[in-house]
Amino acid sequence: ALPWLLGSFALGIALFTLVPASAMSGGFAVLCAALIGVGAFAMTFGAAKGGPMKHAVAGLLHLAFHPRQERFAATREAWTGNGTATPPTALKLADVEQQQDYGVAKAVEFRWNQLLSFDACVQCGKCEAACPAFAAGQPLNPKKLIQDLVVGMAGGTDAAYAGSPTPGIPVGQHRGTPNGPIVSGLIEAQTLWSCTTCRACVQECPMLIEHVDAIVDMRRNQTLVHGTVPGKGPEVLANLRETGTAGGYDKAARYDWSVDLNAPIAQGGQRVDVLLVAGEGAFDMRYQRTLRALVKVLNKAGVNYAVLGAQEADTGDVARRLGDEATFQHMAQQMMRTLATLSFARIVTADPHVMHSLRNEYRALGARYDVLHHTTLLAELAASGRIAPKAAEALREKRTTYHDPCYLGRYNGEIEAPRKLLKTIGIQVVEMERNGLRGRCCGGGGGAPLTDIPGKQRIPDIRMADARAVGADVVAVACPNCTAMLEGVVGPRAEVLDVAELVAASLE
Ligand code: SF4
Ligand code: SF4
Repeated sequence: ALPWLLGSFALGIALFTLVPASAMSGGFAVLCAALIGVGAFAMTFGAAKGGPMKHAVAGLLHLAFHPRQERFAATREAWTGNGTATPPTALKLADVEQQQDYGVAKAVEFRWNQLLSFDACVQCGKCEAACPAFAAGQPLNPKKLIQDLVVGMAGGTDAAYAGSPTPGIPVGQHRGTPNGPIVSGLIEAQTLWSCTTCRACVQECPMLIEHVDAIVDMRRNQTLVHGTVPGKGPEVLANLRETGTAGGYDKAARYDWSVDLNAPIAQGGQRVDVLLVAGEGAFDMRYQRTLRALVKVLNKAGVNYAVLGAQEADTGDVARRLGDEATFQHMAQQMMRTLATLSFARIVTADPHVMHSLRNEYRALGARYDVLHHTTLLAELAASGRIAPKAAEALREKRTTYHDPCYLGRYNGEIEAPRKLLKTIGIQVVEMERNGLRGRCCGGGGGAPLTDIPGKQRIPDIRMADARAVGADVVAVACPNCTAMLEGVVGPRAEVLDVAELVAASLE
């Protein structure tokens, strides 16, 4: 209908301006007015009632009042080549104590410009096509989720929705009102907990809608008000509060794997160039191999570094993804107090989730750290000649692909350094179909492995199939979660090796 309505408006205006007033009869003037009126109705009242111009009007207003104006600044900086702006991907801080901000329970509790953004959705389905949870048959379809929120805003049911349903939830079952609870009449809790917060939907959305912010807002309410985190989530949150580690470990044991490598422990008053923050991967026997490889390379390169040692507690990253903003802020303050006692130029970590928290999410609490991913530091060391890794023939002959961690690529824009590093050591990367900023999630983010919502298949199996499709013998990774998820794939599969392991092997 839209072309006809706009055509009517344009024709009415054209006739009214082109035909001289002397030649215009009363009937002709009424015809012009009717043509203009029909088009104008579509653009104004029709838009308000969900007519075809709704998305154009809402879309334009959404761009003007976007909830993350920083996105435009970052894009402008990238376009003009001014510096290396980090994509604005940090979650918004919730004032749990003063404002008693406990997330979103009803449609009306979203900020007004978030509501406007949902109306801007043109139902193109790009988010749905990119979503790993949807592909795995978990009960999440980001397009349907946004459309359900649109239904909630106006009140009504989803019966008129014509796209693919949320897997396992037939269309027609959702209804809601602006002041009614979102969970579970309008959206199921399982839908919220299926999300890996990978931001593939946000990356693809032509209308710049922020699905992850909306999902975390609703998770916060589920967690802070109802305490209904599924699976292992409650146990992990309790561990974090009680022990400062996700697994309930003794913090003093975090760097046990480094004892024979003589990794110095950070001391107040002793400045170092690099402070190594291991993260929760330090308690995982598999990821300890990666961390050991990294420390060996740092030793070999003569880097002036120290590890954080027994003072290190979790950054609060997973608590935040699970909606426990109170625990996140508590852990962040604790980490900031610890870091304030130490003197260092830069922080380096082999965990993109740790990097994202320290670099981007602590900023709202007043922290400013120069935080690097280990692949970036290793690429720097190789470029400056402090290490000269050369892969052995056997390694060079293996077909290697690189899996971008979402929290390194999409969240922090770092897709070049690991590839450059692999090339430097003589490994040619064979790209998977989804790579770089469009990489496919391994399924390990957002606390998804803890909430563990079942689907038809597992997300890491899909990712490993991507690697298989390009005939990869090795999948190079750069994150403890990716390592764990991809190594958990059963059956014949490519070998999973961290970039640090490949570099360390190439120095031997
Ligand atoms: S990508 Fe954006 S505009 Fe397209 S369906 Fe998803 S939310 Fe709507
Ligand atoms: S963040 Fe990832 S998992 Fe979550 S809805 Fe978007 S695409 Fe799906």
